[in-house]
Amino acid sequence: MPTVNAYAAQTATSPLAPFQIVRRELNANDVQVEILYSGVCHSDVHQARSEWGPSLYPLVPGHEIVGRVTAVGAEVGRFKVGDLAGVGVLVDSCQHCDSCSAGLEQYCENGSTQTYNSRERESKAITFGGYSTSIVVREEFVLRVPESLDLKAVAPLLCAGITMYSPLRHWKIGAGHNVAVVGLGGLGHMGIKLAAAMGAQVTLFTTSQGKAEDGLRLGAHHVVISSDKAAMKAVRASFDFILSTVPTSHDLNPYLGTLKLGGQLVIVGAIDPVEVHGGQLISHRRSVSGSNIGGLQETQEMLDFCAEHGIVADIELIDMQDINAAYDRVVKNDVKYRFVIDMASLKREQPEEKNSAAD
Ligand code: NAP
Ligand code: ZN
Repeated sequence: MPTVNAYAAQTATSPLAPFQIVRRELNANDVQVEILYSGVCHSDVHQARSEWGPSLYPLVPGHEIVGRVTAVGAEVGRFKVGDLAGVGVLVDSCQHCDSCSAGLEQYCENGSTQTYNSRERESKAITFGGYSTSIVVREEFVLRVPESLDLKAVAPLLCAGITMYSPLRHWKIGAGHNVAVVGLGGLGHMGIKLAAAMGAQVTLFTTSQGKAEDGLRLGAHHVVISSDKAAMKAVRASFDFILSTVPTSHDLNPYLGTLKLGGQLVIVGAIDPVEVHGGQLISHRRSVSGSNIGGLQETQEMLDFCAEHGIVADIELIDMQDINAAYDRVVKNDVKYRFVIDMASLKREQPEEKNSAAD
């Protein structure tokens, strides 16, 4: 089976280091993608460090993958060798439950298969993500990547982009809506760009004074420093919709107070407990919801929307060898606004890969 070069964490406390992984032989409906760029999501850090409960090790992160098709199985119809391709957070699902039938594979009732830190449905082998030179994925979970966009800046759309796009679409956000995005990081900066492109009035809530100018440059119409009590008071009961990308447990109440009557706050960041005061909900019939990435059809729609509107991420390109320093910078809130790994750096460094079935 093909052996390919990767970077893996061996335990929750060890740094990522070179590692060779085995990719499966192509099934009839599989697509093999040579990975050109791989985005670095805060979820990669959470999982490499077992911050969401014990992860499966060795762990090869990466679920914002862009590359070129290098081989296809006999029954693949939508891709041919040489095509651009994208892979996001999902690589498989049951394909027959109500959620899958509705194109909501991320909510598969039998458990979707994640690109890494998950198990393949048949073989139960651990799945390995995009910090590697190639990946094999069933055709239904491979996205078409528009040729017109800057490829390295497209990679973050596969997770950060869709995680913002899906709730904006689900709650039908557009012109006439007053929207706020909490946190200017990988997700948040995409949320601003997408909500603005959909015609909404957009406000950024940030804890970082130094990001105010960038917030406006990225498309926000207003910026509110969330620690500034007077500024928070000035936007009381003014938003229809708030998207919170805050990555940890936090107090939602200051943000809830800024929602209008019937307003909706959607959490995509924190999977930990959050503080909600019942009175904040009752007084203005407000709601709190969550949202998980997006389905395959919607991810394709998002990529096409981004092509139409010329939207990509603002990125800092790094070599694979710089990944541990990049993780520390993600945690320190020091990234503008997404790290993307240039996979050419991994190809240069590592031992020869073996492609023969006899290996
Ligand atoms: P990120 O780049 O680190 O951005 C998070 C931003 O949140 C930071 O830039 C910061 O913005 C703000 N922030 C950080 N700590 C905060 C705190 N304690 N209180 C208030 N604000 C804080 O992370 P990301 O990659 O965008 O991911 C954000 C979260 O979403 C992560 O937890 C990730 O695992 C999760 N995620 C969820 C999904 C999903 O499907 N639901 C998908 C992808 C990622 P300011 O400096 O502007 O305050
Ligand atoms: Zn992600």
